[in-house]
Amino acid sequence: MNTNEKREELKNLLGQVEDLHHASGVLGWDQQTYMPPRGAAARAQQLAILDKLAHESFTTDAIGDLLSDLEADAAKQDYDSDEASLLRVTRREYDKAKRVPPALIEDISRTTSLALESWTQARAESNFKIFQPDLEKIVELEIQLANCFGYTDRIYDALLDEYEPGMTTAQVAAIFDGLKQELLPLARAISQKTGRVDDRCLHRAYDEKKQWDFGVEVIQRLGFDFERGRQDKSVHPFTTGFGLGDTRITTRVDKHFLPMALFGTIHETGHALYDMGYRAELERTPLAGGASLGTHESQSRLWENVVGRSRGFWKFFFPRLRQVFPRQLAGQTVDSFYRAINRVHPSFIRVEADEVTYSLHILLRFELENDLIERKLKVADVPEAWNAKMKEYLGIVPPDAAQGCLQDIHWSGGSIGYFATYSLGSIFSVQLFDQALRDLPTLPKQIERGEFGELLKWLRANLHQHGRKFTLDELARKITGEPLQTRSYMRYLKTKFGEIYGL
Ligand code: ZN
Repeated sequence: MNTNEKREELKNLLGQVEDLHHASGVLGWDQQTYMPPRGAAARAQQLAILDKLAHESFTTDAIGDLLSDLEADAAKQDYDSDEASLLRVTRREYDKAKRVPPALIEDISRTTSLALESWTQARAESNFKIFQPDLEKIVELEIQLANCFGYTDRIYDALLDEYEPGMTTAQVAAIFDGLKQELLPLARAISQKTGRVDDRCLHRAYDEKKQWDFGVEVIQRLGFDFERGRQDKSVHPFTTGFGLGDTRITTRVDKHFLPMALFGTIHETGHALYDMGYRAELERTPLAGGASLGTHESQSRLWENVVGRSRGFWKFFFPRLRQVFPRQLAGQTVDSFYRAINRVHPSFIRVEADEVTYSLHILLRFELENDLIERKLKVADVPEAWNAKMKEYLGIVPPDAAQGCLQDIHWSGGSIGYFATYSLGSIFSVQLFDQALRDLPTLPKQIERGEFGELLKWLRANLHQHGRKFTLDELARKITGEPLQTRSYMRYLKTKFGEIYGL
């Protein structure tokens, strides 16, 4: 085979691996949306087999040999080219996949299946002891996994890299330290002025069908294409995709809390627009999709918070919303509604947190995970350590473990190293939006008119089209001319919430 034929053969083999991932994705989507409860056991079996097949088809010697053969040629190509990027990204993933013995993968898979059950029960009964033995096993397995991947500085680097390729623990710690110094005083200053915002209007009875329809109306305006995607209901909202022409989002509706469906729908649409935006040439390769979890979250949060919780956005959408819910929103104005949806208050639950306190929840998890993985903290001591940090960062202590260290599903699934990406995404979302404002000076006026096409076009051209070719840091430098920084994000928070709370 000559170089061209080898490249085609590599793409052909990688395409088959992608197909397996997508097939497994469809089963996973169905599992969370329409599958009847009794289908769970068979589905777990089917998913395990597909994931095993995908792993085996990816780690073959044939792919390894083609990568080695093509690397010399790729080294001559431009770093940004599809060819060089395909080799670089595939090599990174191939080497990582090869380093993990199949026995360890099986061990993790089995342990986390059981842990999901014990975590569910522990949370329902608010009893950490039920989950503790499984979490102990998971921490040990994650330490083994990190040692297989290898690292130069801190063991957490190896796990973080799974979710945020190229990012190191030291980088994230430095970012979070800076954030902490500014967020804590901001949250404290706001807590002295809680009387300035009243969000009771959000808790009235809102017809569920009307909420759903309004959400669909909003996301169609944002650019969600129902010819290439659909929305369904699930307990935990998520986005998944099976190729450029098929992206699925889910949402959940709470009759007595308007923001749940509305902002959940906009959030997942942000993920979906990213997934719908890579160049067609990258289809069926490891370059299809989003760069990293942090980059993905920058898109969901840009649309949900920076755009969707802005005053300009509601100048356009509030009159329409009031038409749909005249009784519930009687007496409300654009301004009072804008303040209501941006109310800041320390809460126990991360997913319910506002923009100001959200990252404090993440800081806590990032610090505890590091201590666990470096064996500085025993699993048995997690509840106490959790509560101490809640007290320190948010000034409140959860009444029980269900509202404390048992609230998130991540650890039961072996996802240690994941949480940081939520905050990295929030930080990056504002850095990106600031750049969009520099490039599109009339953007605020467009948003007030309900026009989002220019913003989406800008995101497509600068970010989405690249798929997974670059890391978050490479993208930040490429798009904004500097690495990921917290300056824009903190200025945004201080300006927005300073105005709302009269600081
Ligand atoms: Zn998200």
